[in-house]
Amino acid sequence: MRARRTADGATGAGGPSGPVRWEAVIGIEVHVELGTRTKMFCRCATTFGAPPNTNTCPVCLGMPGVLPVINRRAVEHVLATGLAIDAGIAPVTRWDRKNYFYPDLPKGYQISQYDLPLASRGQLSFDTSEGPFTVHITRAHLEEDTARLQHTTDELGRRISLVDFNRAGLPLMEIVTEPDIRTAEQARRYAEELRLLLRTIGVSDAEMENGQMRVEANVSLRPAGREAFGTRVEVKNMNSFRAVERAIAHEIERQARVLDAGEVLVQETRGWDDVRNETYRMRVKEYSDDYRYFPEPDLPPLRADAAWLEAIRAGLPELPSARRTRYVGDLGLSPYDAGVIVADPAAGALFEEALAAAQALAAADGRPEGALPAAKALANWVTGEFLRIARQRVDGGRASGAELARLVAMVGDGRISGTNGKEVLARHVETGEPVDRIVEELGFTQISDTGALAAAVDEVIAANPGAAADYRAGKQQVVGFLVGQVMKATRGQANAAIVQRLVRERLEGGA
Ligand code: ADP
Ligand code: MG
Ligand code: ZN
Repeated sequence: MRARRTADGATGAGGPSGPVRWEAVIGIEVHVELGTRTKMFCRCATTFGAPPNTNTCPVCLGMPGVLPVINRRAVEHVLATGLAIDAGIAPVTRWDRKNYFYPDLPKGYQISQYDLPLASRGQLSFDTSEGPFTVHITRAHLEEDTARLQHTTDELGRRISLVDFNRAGLPLMEIVTEPDIRTAEQARRYAEELRLLLRTIGVSDAEMENGQMRVEANVSLRPAGREAFGTRVEVKNMNSFRAVERAIAHEIERQARVLDAGEVLVQETRGWDDVRNETYRMRVKEYSDDYRYFPEPDLPPLRADAAWLEAIRAGLPELPSARRTRYVGDLGLSPYDAGVIVADPAAGALFEEALAAAQALAAADGRPEGALPAAKALANWVTGEFLRIARQRVDGGRASGAELARLVAMVGDGRISGTNGKEVLARHVETGEPVDRIVEELGFTQISDTGALAAAVDEVIAANPGAAADYRAGKQQVVGFLVGQVMKATRGQANAAIVQRLVRERLEGGA
């Protein structure tokens, strides 16, 4: 059973049977600019930020008589996405013309896919504050982007519109969900997880801020418990994940107010105003009939044969959901830590590197199982201290996995204190120096005065009367434990090598 939630604060006068609790129904459409070198149907470059109208040619300018050629890489990106969301891949698809007039569309039609998308019936699962959630994905298809319009004023203050055709003809993937989503948070989480997936499989950087990923939400309300959907409104112009959540939350409230007042909603498109914190009417919704879709006569049907699909599947990296499952299931990380590490590429890379180093260290010590507890400690350091430091830095911050593994081992066996360890990590991120040297430089192993240390060692041994006997019985680990106790007692300031020598001397001397 999926968790259901009614629109917060959305009760009102309602019908004769008393106040109505509204349930939100949300479906999301995402457009993603695919990371290819050339455009969808011509060989123009896709470079972002090029001077206006320089990445153009007769094909993407819609001159008469030109012919489109399919960009194979763009098709592969959609197929990879389809496989990654567990969708069915159509063995044969075709292209359609979506006709409409607008200055951003020089041909008067957009080449798209109407009734035979490349991928259909997929899904995406992720965590929310209310638990795990799965969104069913209706389809993912390929189309071309339109030109960019810029509404501005000229030198005389007259309102003008400029058009930049650099964006016209960029490969664009549209991913449409079923109306499965019930809350603004689920919608935001869906968009975040989708972006993570797209970045992981390398099909797009999917930056919302520069329009590489555009999220549109279809929102309607229905009385809780009712099957039939209400009138939907499409919300656009959300430029961040935060905006997605806030825009939808506001739209749900607005619709509840309209319905509670006994009025009806119109099917329309509304824009999100991030500054005024509200949606505004853009246009009354068009229907697909208006586009007079028909098959594109200039392009052949597209066949995705099994060998091609297999090659794409084989090239997919470990997907975020599989990686989280591995971290929780095999390494014993908390779902929270696993989620944080997988969501952040720098943290993820650091964790993997540090884990490999910790495994190598443990294997060299002849205790391969020692890597498992190390995984949890490493995760703590990565999600806690490393990300805290990294987020304060403009450069994002870098750390060496091998050095982090060494540092965590030092803290783990008490050679330095946790507090000192944090300082060491901050310094390592700052300078890239090896942690051993930093520990020395900061004087965290400073107490080398044998007399002072011997007193601390004697105290610890006295406090652990069984230790000497254990040691004589062959339990070498006792040494590490006692050294750790001395380090704790000296707040990480003792010279660990000297302490270790003293501990052995005392134990062997039968103290
Ligand atoms: P269009 O072609 O007009 O964009 P679609 O049928 O492709 O319309 O649907 C667009 C999105 O709207 C899909 O994500 C779908 O799940 C969602 N949707 C459809 N009906 C509703 C509804 N009543 N309330 C909320 N979302 C809806
Ligand atoms: Mg739509
Ligand atoms: Zn071109």
